[in-house]
Amino acid sequence: MGVVVLMNGKPVAPAAATVSVFDRGFLYGDSVYEVIRTYDGVPFEVHAHLERLDGSATRIGMRLPVSQAALTEEVAAAVALADLPEAYIRIVVTRGSGEIGLDPSLAVDPVRLMIVKPLTPPGSEAYTDGVRISVPAVRRNHKLALDPAAKTGNYLNSILALAEARRRGAYEAVILDHRGLVTEGSTSNVFAVLGDRLLTPPLDTGLLAGITRGVVLKIAPQAGLRPLEVPLAVDTLLGADEVMLTSTSREVLPVVEVDDEPIGAGTPGPAYRRLRAAFAEYVAAHNADRTR
Ligand code: PMP
Repeated sequence: MGVVVLMNGKPVAPAAATVSVFDRGFLYGDSVYEVIRTYDGVPFEVHAHLERLDGSATRIGMRLPVSQAALTEEVAAAVALADLPEAYIRIVVTRGSGEIGLDPSLAVDPVRLMIVKPLTPPGSEAYTDGVRISVPAVRRNHKLALDPAAKTGNYLNSILALAEARRRGAYEAVILDHRGLVTEGSTSNVFAVLGDRLLTPPLDTGLLAGITRGVVLKIAPQAGLRPLEVPLAVDTLLGADEVMLTSTSREVLPVVEVDDEPIGAGTPGPAYRRLRAAFAEYVAAHNADRTR
């Protein structure tokens, strides 16, 4: 069927799937969302994604309108309806619409959307050649302002950072916090390899707890790496043997240049290749568990 849209659980033709101009997600970014992907048609780590959605909602004082069990069923139903080789699944829950005004109590009913469409992972050359990243001047939101741990509909901070990186010809931005420490990419988490250590900034730096990040930290030992969550300076990144990005649609992606400085040998390295293999094994085991 291709693209499937569910609005409050009901299938709607994509062209007819519209929200009110009074919706707070539209007016203020007053919403939360998740992006999930399938492997062989099985949604990957769906429970972890729905937990994070619930956590994002809690962080902005919203309650999900239906249970996680109901959302899990909706994901399965939408994926079955779409009948795609591999699907990209976006779940959005907005606080709803009401009289215009910032006060959240003006919102009437939350609106929940699910969009399922073909997955478009990066091209194979990104994995064989690696990508270039850039450190923009834009800094990450302070976690006491708008906590990056909440995946909300307000992505302007990431949009501005990515726009700056793209202007410099880079594929992704690596965003620093107010102190100049590495937080994450605009839609990815960042890892550095130094010897047998796999470093990534701790969650309390103020970043999104990527689901892929969590998987990579778990499987690092299978790739012969010691995972360590430590504050990461830009210089550490520049001096690393290898740098990688992780996200749902990218899995583990090698970085070969940061702002025109080559990383290590300037090509995807052995730690990346081992992590990629360990990740594929993890996915296979994940799916075997679901279908057993
Ligand atoms: N950080 C940000 C800001 C993101 O938007 C994403 C994408 N969801 C990630 C990290 C990576 O998270 P995940 O591995 O769950 O896709």
